[in-house]
Amino acid sequence: MKWFVVFLLAAFGIHGAAAAADWSTVSTPSPGPTQSIGFYSAGCLQGAQPLPLDAPGYEAIRISRNRYWGQPVMVDYIQTLANRMHAAGQAHLYIGDIGQPRGGPAPTGHASHQVGLDADIWFERQPGARRVPADRENPRLRSLVRADDTGIDDTVYTPAHVALLRTAAEMPNVDRIFVNKFIKQRICQTATGNRTWLNKLVVWLGHDEHFHVRLHCPPGNPQCQPQAAYYADDGCGEPLDLWFRAPPVSLPPPGAPQKPYRPKLPAACNAILSAP
Ligand SMILES: [Zn+2]
Repeated sequence: MKWFVVFLLAAFGIHGAAAAADWSTVSTPSPGPTQSIGFYSAGCLQGAQPLPLDAPGYEAIRISRNRYWGQPVMVDYIQTLANRMHAAGQAHLYIGDIGQPRGGPAPTGHASHQVGLDADIWFERQPGARRVPADRENPRLRSLVRADDTGIDDTVYTPAHVALLRTAAEMPNVDRIFVNKFIKQRICQTATGNRTWLNKLVVWLGHDEHFHVRLHCPPGNPQCQPQAAYYADDGCGEPLDLWFRAPPVSLPPPGAPQKPYRPKLPAACNAILSAP
């Protein structure tokens, strides 16, 4: 469903000259120390680090997309989260897109993931042996939301998903985590104890098969543009109600023309793209 987000952002008039295809055809990171430049949905990444494709507690999927590059803080985050879930007895995580080798806009799938500080982590888990990377292109990735989009699919959703989201939200450096409105609603209705972590769960379209972790700009990245905080509280009141009553963004009508998402990137990204 992520292309809808792309459509909507494009509809808001964020256009520029940088062609998305350029960023997706560069297969290696740029030299230099890691630096996030610009905003999550209009930026690039110098000195990206690759996420190791396998490690305790996770495996990267859809390797052929070559979007497993990010900030060291994101690599650390994923490995730490995976270790914690493994220690908690959960099956290993499926890690999806982080970013392209130099960040920047991707031709398909995302408006953000441009500065190495966004990552998609799938709700699906398959206990048992790992597969080789070549066999991870089209895994089963079930949604936690019913196919008719009327609510949580309780044949898929389990407390393990909630434990995963809570652990993910309570780790350091998390700016926000995007989830589907039904997931947020269910957790708002059921979370007990300290509910501070609910503040990090931000509702967005889609995000029913995976959640999207966004980290804060790391120290020492002066060109990284932070995002304003979203909820003042747990976000379970009016901001959530709005998604059911009058969604702030919605799906385009069937057959609506799509414009490619062409954000205007900071000038410093030109050198990142053209570096050897
Ligand atoms: Zn994402």
